[in-house]
Amino acid sequence: MKGRKLLMIPGPIEFEPEVLQAMGMPTNSHVAPDFIETFGNSLELMREVWKSPTGQPFIVAGTGTLAMDMAAANLIEQGDRVLVISTGYFGQRFRDIMDRYGAKTTFLKAPLGEVVSLEAIEKELKDQQYKALTITHVDTSTGVLVDPEPIAKLARKYNTLSILDGVCSVAGEKINQEEWGLDVVLTGSQKAIGVPPGLALLVASPKAMHVWKNRKSPVANYYADWNNWLPIMTAYEERRPSYFGTPAVNLIVALETSLKIIAAEGIEKRVNRHFNLAKAFRAGISSLNLEILPKSDEVAANTLTAAYYPSGIEGAALLSKIAQSEVVLAGGLLPEIKTKYFRIGHMGSVSANDLLTVLSALERALFKSGHHIEPGKSLQAFQQRLLKSD
Ligand code: PMP
Repeated sequence: MKGRKLLMIPGPIEFEPEVLQAMGMPTNSHVAPDFIETFGNSLELMREVWKSPTGQPFIVAGTGTLAMDMAAANLIEQGDRVLVISTGYFGQRFRDIMDRYGAKTTFLKAPLGEVVSLEAIEKELKDQQYKALTITHVDTSTGVLVDPEPIAKLARKYNTLSILDGVCSVAGEKINQEEWGLDVVLTGSQKAIGVPPGLALLVASPKAMHVWKNRKSPVANYYADWNNWLPIMTAYEERRPSYFGTPAVNLIVALETSLKIIAAEGIEKRVNRHFNLAKAFRAGISSLNLEILPKSDEVAANTLTAAYYPSGIEGAALLSKIAQSEVVLAGGLLPEIKTKYFRIGHMGSVSANDLLTVLSALERALFKSGHHIEPGKSLQAFQQRLLKSD
């Protein structure tokens, strides 16, 4: 398509044509039998993707931030202690949300490009009784990946709810909500789930639902209150009409389509595809002598890459040169280093072809900016790494 740009930011992403077509269908009534079926199927498919057979899924119009807000509004009461484990910008956001609901938050901040140690987390949990802890699975500002499994286990050990911000990870990174014992896993539609922006998606464990049901104070947010949404989710799953706030009909039709694509690929295969492409992509970036923000491969996300600009290169000018090749990348997000680095999203429908296109556009832009590069070097490094994983 002439003038078509390749959108390689960490969300929104490139969407599958079937998903976009599904979204463009004439808008149905939210109580029409076929829409009820679509909504019900989507809830059931979420349990599969989250690996949470006994979890309670919620699909609500909003963004990832609403899903974070919903977790906090429903589970936290005035004075509850919350441990926020932060690996970047979105840790701070969770702290702000928790504070808004009157939580007493403790903020455990990882050094830039690293994760918080399990020892530091356990020490906090031992010292005081926390109602909940939050983990950012992939912080989109730093590209740092946290392993939620051992943290969720610690949370269980100390009778603390675990809340996973999976906005940049669900359907791209390995998640096993029930087996790992995560109490909330939340996301937004526009990332690896592969649906245009506008849906807040969340699955709560039976324990989280129990804690919510036994609250002492009413939920302090009307729209986010599960009292309003649980009957709706239950009704759609039982294939009955119901209404609280008008569902985002077209987005939910698109969601069902995308979840079916994810299920057909197979979640393990999908996570592996992300893993192999991310590894190959980082090999390509490193071959150009660009420094990757996460300090090691083990803590580097498979859904995006964050890398520093080479010294002497003006970031905005480089990104606009890349845009001249019809490839859209994202600048930095973390305030303290915002102008020093950039980010490339590689999730959802991403293919080797997309990433080869990114690397070649990056090489040309670096060359035009006066940075010494050997044309094709990053493509070779990418191919070599990818062939190893085939
Ligand atoms: N958490 C993370 C890790 C994110 O990447 C984002 C979005 N970039 C959010 C939360 C907030 O999501 P939204 O922009 O959809 O509100």
